[in-house]
Amino acid sequence: MARYTGPVCKLCRREGEKLFLKGARCLSPKCAVEKRGYPPGQHGKEASFRRGRTSDYNAQLREKQKARRIYGVLERQFRRYFAEAVRRRGPTGTNLLQLLEMRLDNVIYRLALADSRAHARQLVGHRHFDVNGLPTNIASYNLRPGDQITVHGSSRNLRYFREIRSYMEQRPPIPDWLQMEFHGDGTFTATVLRLPERSELQLPLNEQLIVEYYSR
Ligand code: SF4
Repeated sequence: MARYTGPVCKLCRREGEKLFLKGARCLSPKCAVEKRGYPPGQHGKEASFRRGRTSDYNAQLREKQKARRIYGVLERQFRRYFAEAVRRRGPTGTNLLQLLEMRLDNVIYRLALADSRAHARQLVGHRHFDVNGLPTNIASYNLRPGDQITVHGSSRNLRYFREIRSYMEQRPPIPDWLQMEFHGDGTFTATVLRLPERSELQLPLNEQLIVEYYSR
């Protein structure tokens, strides 16, 4: 599946807030939002002064773009997630976020196995993980409660995975809807226990605006 390959800090500057797309750099003074907190482009500085005045449509569009950028999903695929969210029972906005959260690359990120979703996507693409015992290199793979993730046999000896615990300590804690169990030989099994509740997702998003955007 295609993905955005341009400069990512520009995306945060466009939204006017940190989207945490680059792992550790996002928490450092090198973050572009800290250094240049106005939209990118020739007229970016002028645009930042106009930010106060915005239409309903613009607010909805920006919220949708923010969600796409956080999860690294392009428009066509995002629309498909929305169609599936509408089809499911329950609040469409929550369904949409749950669908995005259950992507394999996002779960790898939530398990603190990667610095960012982009890093997780790369690890998945390089076939480092098995889902329920089968090698999987599809970042958008839709996980379900009960699915188990392990490191693929030939990747277990890589230094990155041998030292994974030390990396994990520097990353956000694993949420309650996921479980990580380490074995005596240093390998681990991660399990998706259930779908996340909306209150468990610390996201700078108002999903209702996204629903309104697609319901116009
Ligand atoms: Fe966004 Fe991170 Fe770049 Fe800062 S460093 S602008 S939070 S991607």
